Amino acid sequence: MNSTFLQTPIDYLKGVGPNRAILLKNEVGIHTFQDLLNLFPNRYLDRTQFYKVNSLPKTSAEIQVIGKITHIKTVEQKRGKRLVATFQDETGRMELVWFRGQKWIRENLKLNIPYVIFGKTSFYNGVFSMPHPEMELLETHEKSMRSALQPVYPSTEKLANSGITNRVLNGLMQQLFLESKNGFQESLSKHLLDSLKLMSKSEALLNIHFPKSQALLAAAEYRLKFEELFYIQVQLVRKNLLHKTKIKGYPFQKIGEHFNRFYHEHLPFELTSAQKRVIKEIRNDLGSNAQMNRLLQGDVGSGKTIVALTSMLIAVDNGFQACLMAPTAILSVQHYHGLSDLCKELKLSISLLQGSTKASKRREIHEKLENGTIDILIGTHALLEDKVKFKNLGLAIIDEQHRFGVAQRSKLWYKNTYPPHVLVMTATPIPRTLAMSVYGDLDSSVIDELPPGRKDIKTVHRFDANRLKVFRFIRDEITKGRQVYIVYPLIQESETLDYKDLMDGYESIVREFPLPKYQVSIVHGKMKPADKEFEMNRFIKKETQIMVATTVIEVGVNVPNASVMIIESAERFGLSQLHQLRGRVGRGAEQSYCILMTSHKLSADAKTRLETMTRTSDGFEIAEVDLKLRGPGDLMGTQQSGVLNLRIADIVRDSEILKIARSYAFEVLKQDPYLSEEDNLPIKSTLEQLMKYKNIWNYIS
Ligand code: ADP
Ligand code: MG
Repeated sequence: MNSTFLQTPIDYLKGVGPNRAILLKNEVGIHTFQDLLNLFPNRYLDRTQFYKVNSLPKTSAEIQVIGKITHIKTVEQKRGKRLVATFQDETGRMELVWFRGQKWIRENLKLNIPYVIFGKTSFYNGVFSMPHPEMELLETHEKSMRSALQPVYPSTEKLANSGITNRVLNGLMQQLFLESKNGFQESLSKHLLDSLKLMSKSEALLNIHFPKSQALLAAAEYRLKFEELFYIQVQLVRKNLLHKTKIKGYPFQKIGEHFNRFYHEHLPFELTSAQKRVIKEIRNDLGSNAQMNRLLQGDVGSGKTIVALTSMLIAVDNGFQACLMAPTAILSVQHYHGLSDLCKELKLSISLLQGSTKASKRREIHEKLENGTIDILIGTHALLEDKVKFKNLGLAIIDEQHRFGVAQRSKLWYKNTYPPHVLVMTATPIPRTLAMSVYGDLDSSVIDELPPGRKDIKTVHRFDANRLKVFRFIRDEITKGRQVYIVYPLIQESETLDYKDLMDGYESIVREFPLPKYQVSIVHGKMKPADKEFEMNRFIKKETQIMVATTVIEVGVNVPNASVMIIESAERFGLSQLHQLRGRVGRGAEQSYCILMTSHKLSADAKTRLETMTRTSDGFEIAEVDLKLRGPGDLMGTQQSGVLNLRIADIVRDSEILKIARSYAFEVLKQDPYLSEEDNLPIKSTLEQLMKYKNIWNYIS
């Protein structure tokens, strides 16, 4: 079947017409035949099973019963009338109820003749009833060829109320198959079909809509899921491969004085083998002719900063500038001090640019960037302002990628004549499957090893009622010279209440830990940046022992002497946030602790989160749980959820298929980059169609 047929507006399908067409477009986004074909069922009802009236489940369920209508009456009620029929089989009786279309039903229903009814039951006052059942005479039912697995299509209330019921959708689908004669073009190569033993496209479409058996349905699902994921991967992988051949980067072939001196004389510690491996991967990228586009994942505390620094030194050694962008002012200041300190023996010019940088200083920085005096620039979003012009930016590093959108990522590229190499670092481990889908066009490095000697952070869950014990524990730790974070949630919707909680908490801490023996800092989002920095610095300098804060400390802050993290109302935090917060401690040589405080009222999800936190500190494992709890859209934020708007596959449940799809996408494209081989032509033309009719497959971003 050619693609023009599938592009026919849905209005032209027999049984649709202008009114239904509008509803289908507005309610479920069906504009063309193709859209209808791709409306895959949410689930299937097993119509092989029948219930007896005396053994109906009391909880509401969709069930099928055979019986007869013995009596029909109209019942007047305050708001209109309803039609009630008594329906019975040999075991008992129940009620069928209609609120709409009563006249037609009354005229057409036959008494005392066996029907098959199907619908959702409810149980009230000892009576089972079923509103608006689907009904069919038993005789017709037995003759019909309908599949035992009946598809249930995605729908909306408006659609159903306007008469486009599931049964109607089913009928339209049948009509579509009739008109198409089920001649759907194959979209995968023979090689793929054979080596993965996939069902053909036509067979798969037929069986997804009209499954003949569970086994055929499963094969159809597998084939369509593979196809969906495969085409996402083909696009990402193609972008990646084309990028490498097309987008030239500055080849940093020299490993020069700064890098060598730093690496051989000033490394403050022995690098972990994961750090060494990643530095090598980055060196390879930087030394090639293609622009680097790499994602670096490493759990909190895995030591990404030193990797960033060595990469920037390579850029500087090759006569280029480098920049490091962080998501918060606090973090950029910390990077600035930390890196300046690490580089103090090297002749390097490092500057800091933030939103709060004074105008005169800012002008000076702008000038020095343009004349190339500054080697390394560190800062916040301020780096993205148009006025910031580098003489020759060779490497841009973005810390904590998830806080910046992809748009910003690419904006950095175009600051200069040629795009700089780009390294995005994230401490929020992204489950592998998600990374493949969202960052599938990037190369990826993982630091999967923590620096040696790091003790596991003891994590416990305590109820608010045990607060006094927790205070005692804090006092003991402070006596030993440690410092403590106490973090309060700050959720946008209830900001005022949250601030009240924070301030109440702060006051009670100050009461418990009074001056002059104890000093308590507080940092939150409503403070001026300068005040925040001042308080942060008091804590870093050990002038205060307790830091009460909202999640502003979540990202990157490094105070090795802080060994206790108390998280208040921990049930309100997401898993990745909890994990990030916990990563603030355990950075020194001392045993560290994380105490999750909650009330007694906990949802099932909250319990899972707390249980996960106390069980493991493996960021990737935590990310997997998070993905299962929240789903991919939520995890990545709305910006990136477009690619994840899948029709049939689910990157959590179908992660195995995803991995296979990705590896085949690589195989196919590496071997035939332009898809010009005969066997790959179906892939080529499908891809072209995907690009052309973007609305069809809405996952093409
Ligand atoms: P993150 O990956 O969270 O950005 P950092 O780069 O801030 O981690 O490193 C966390 C801490 O671990 C820092 O204090 C850093 O100096 C230290 N560190 C990093 N790498 C090593 C290593 N190989 N050996 C010992 N300590 C290290
Ligand atoms: Mg960091």
